Amino acid sequence: MQLRIGYRNYDVIDTPELDLADRGHSAEIHFRDGLILVSPEGPKAHRVEKILHEVMHGFLYDAGINLEDDMEETVVLALTPRFTAFLRDNPIQVRKFIKDLQ
Ligand SMILES: [Zn+2]
Repeated sequence: MQLRIGYRNYDVIDTPELDLADRGHSAEIHFRDGLILVSPEGPKAHRVEKILHEVMHGFLYDAGINLEDDMEETVVLALTPRFTAFLRDNPIQVRKFIKDLQ
């Protein structure tokens, strides 16, 4: 899977090693390499939210917004579940938005 964030594409790669407890997280974004690594474990909806979490980091990076790590994580943790729910809760309107943006 490939996602476009701003001016660049990111390859999304299932990475089982991210399930190791000592990593402390289950997805990563690598801006310079154009990679989003995500653990394939768990429900599909959880995987989507993990990817969208990294996409939010990508939005901030693309926008040139440099927050301290804790603040960036706070912002991303606040926005991601709400954006995910927005997509899930408004499927008809989201599809219309996408169509209207073509
Ligand atoms: Zn994060």
